[in-house]
Amino acid sequence: MTPVLAVHRATKSYPGGVTALDDVSLSVHEGELLAIVGPSGSGKSTLLNIIGTLDLPTSGTVELGGQDVTRLSDRQLSALRGRSLGFVFQQFHLTDGLSAADNVATGLLYAGVARKHRRPLALRALDRVGLAHRVDHLPHQLSGGERQRVAIARAVVNEPSLVLADEPTGALDVANGHAVLELLAGLNRDGTTIAVITHDRDIAAALPRQVRISDGRIVSDTGSPC
Ligand code: ADP
Repeated sequence: MTPVLAVHRATKSYPGGVTALDDVSLSVHEGELLAIVGPSGSGKSTLLNIIGTLDLPTSGTVELGGQDVTRLSDRQLSALRGRSLGFVFQQFHLTDGLSAADNVATGLLYAGVARKHRRPLALRALDRVGLAHRVDHLPHQLSGGERQRVAIARAVVNEPSLVLADEPTGALDVANGHAVLELLAGLNRDGTTIAVITHDRDIAAALPRQVRISDGRIVSDTGSPC
């Protein structure tokens, strides 16, 4: 089966001679839940930006669903991103003046879903993350854990082929962090493919597959259990 993501021999160099990624190859298949784990400065953000089509590798290729993103125009890239990827950030990145439902519905705007379908789909996604009772709350009326649930609902509302979660528990206390990981594991059991990018070895160890990165290289990969 075509992998959801295939990075082939990707390198990323920055001016000044920094090689942030050095010959990285990685495949992710549908249904996986994996950690990309490494210490600060190891290249995680660079790899995340490349997988998320926010940046291009200096050399090598990145394929999403078999499509080589290094050959697409900016417009084609944003369309592919809106259709295929969901993002979860450490600091949630919700829009302040918008209700939980509207924050989730914006995830559909960029995917080109008609207005009348957006709210029902947003309500369903909020229900999936256990927030059916908070749909009209504004972000500042929600706890950190609830805000991250809204962000996760926004990431999955369009049923992307891959969710990229960047340090999703980094701004939460232990209990809420644990609950967010449980939620991601539950969404994965229901079929969502998820990559968690983290510096935290304990979080990585709790996931079925661990890809370790150090000095811009993948130094170990426990491989796909699928
Ligand atoms: P991590 O997310 O694991 O902390 P990064 O991907 O941010 O690692 O960084 C990997 C390496 O690339 C580091 O040495 C960092 O200093 C360098 N780097 C990252 N972004 C840039 C940039 N825009 N210009 C120059 N060097 C960069």
